[in-house]
Amino acid sequence: MSFDSQDEALLAAPAATTPTGPSFDSLGVAPEILKAITHAGYPTPTDVQALAVPAALTGRDLQVSAKTGSGKTAAFVWPALQRILDARNDPAKKRAKGGPSGPRILVLAPTRELAQQVSRAFVVYGGGVQGLRIAHVVGGVPYHAQLKALRGPLDVLIATPGRLLDLMNSGSAIMSQVEMLVLDEADRMLDMGFIDDITTIAQALPQERQTLMFSATFAGTVGKLASDLTRDPQRINVASHTDTHAQIEQRLHWADSLHHKHALLEQLLADRDVDQAVVFTSTQRDADALAWKLGEIGHSVAALHGGMPQGRRNRVLQDLRHRQLRVLVATDVASRGIDVPTITHVINYGLPMKAEDYVHRIGRTGRAGRTGLAITLAERRDVGMIRRIERFTTQRITASVVAGLEPKMPAPSDTKPSSERSFGKPAGKSFGAPRKPGFGGPGKSRGGPREFGAGKPSGPRRGGFER
Ligand code: ADP
Ligand code: MG
Repeated sequence: MSFDSQDEALLAAPAATTPTGPSFDSLGVAPEILKAITHAGYPTPTDVQALAVPAALTGRDLQVSAKTGSGKTAAFVWPALQRILDARNDPAKKRAKGGPSGPRILVLAPTRELAQQVSRAFVVYGGGVQGLRIAHVVGGVPYHAQLKALRGPLDVLIATPGRLLDLMNSGSAIMSQVEMLVLDEADRMLDMGFIDDITTIAQALPQERQTLMFSATFAGTVGKLASDLTRDPQRINVASHTDTHAQIEQRLHWADSLHHKHALLEQLLADRDVDQAVVFTSTQRDADALAWKLGEIGHSVAALHGGMPQGRRNRVLQDLRHRQLRVLVATDVASRGIDVPTITHVINYGLPMKAEDYVHRIGRTGRAGRTGLAITLAERRDVGMIRRIERFTTQRITASVVAGLEPKMPAPSDTKPSSERSFGKPAGKSFGAPRKPGFGGPGKSRGGPREFGAGKPSGPRRGGFER
């Protein structure tokens, strides 16, 4: 596959130069808050802000995941401030002198630094909220200073779970007024062993409250905690499709026929570097058939698709997690629940129906700070979909060959009508200037295409499989 220099230029073009999409006005926050946002000078809300803020303002519980640096802090600080303003204007919520004066908003964060960051965001965005009272209590700070901060009526309390629990146990922190609980970086709090503290704290809060949970993942224990703490939650998941997925190497193999494709798959799976692999098919039927075929030749394999009862799907995922399975054959419907860090390879045996699904598929590997390999097997008739995927991700997938299994037909030509070739097309949802790291702009150099695989046989060259 070759690309001319014009393509290179298009590829390098910014993903979005003119911000489109929702404006701050449409979020639904009061002018006092809007003014502070405008003052911050941001061009538009980020994706997660545009989705989470209006949802939070309806009073619903939320489970939100979005990548680091996508502006999640503001996504909960703005609705929290709105709640405080509303309470100020609500005679029923007026605080009686000498009555309970605990916080209306409680934010739990994993570390002291994060708690301080959240606290700063409340100060910045809450500048227009009269008499706003914020306190933060974190570990490693003398108790007496924090006890002082907790005295008097409070609007917002930001805390690390351990220290807050200490203060609750000693009767210094009153939690009976909490209307909104926010868990920031919930997955990290669990990694740090805070699960029991969080559960205890949540039990001491009023049942009638709103809970907003932010986490990189909602799989496993976090998911369990999330379903315990939230009621009828709305799930918001913002995966930036122009993410460079730098930790995932993407390759493309052209196949002459279905038979050739299958031979390539067998060869790829025979590679010892494959710790665990997810092979995607286009249909449930293909998933069942391929899983059966691979099982016949000695793979520990199972299918996973939406046509299977939930109980069986859970068991399959558990087997994958416990390494009872090396290969999973899955459809797109089932893919998002797969959060297994030991998946080294994603192989697209059947292409997805939507370019967006490609991004979800490859995201099954390269998790938890590891690297992964995403290999797409395509026949010539799949070329349209391959190009759509490349435009969607604004990245090119490099074609490579497996030695001994080179395609006999030449690779599909790259000549397309010009409308089909604009790689740098503004990605509508992506987030333009200011171009900071983590905000969807191309930022990092993607470098030129790299050639992989040629002349590098992977694993034993034989028809069968490693057992
Ligand atoms: P996250 O919690 O998702 O990792 P943060 O909330 O810490 O991200 O935000 C990262 C940075 O983005 C902060 O410096 C913040 O001020 C900035 N930021 C927040 N909202 C916007 C926006 N709408 N436009 C541009 N920058 C923003
Ligand atoms: Mg954050």
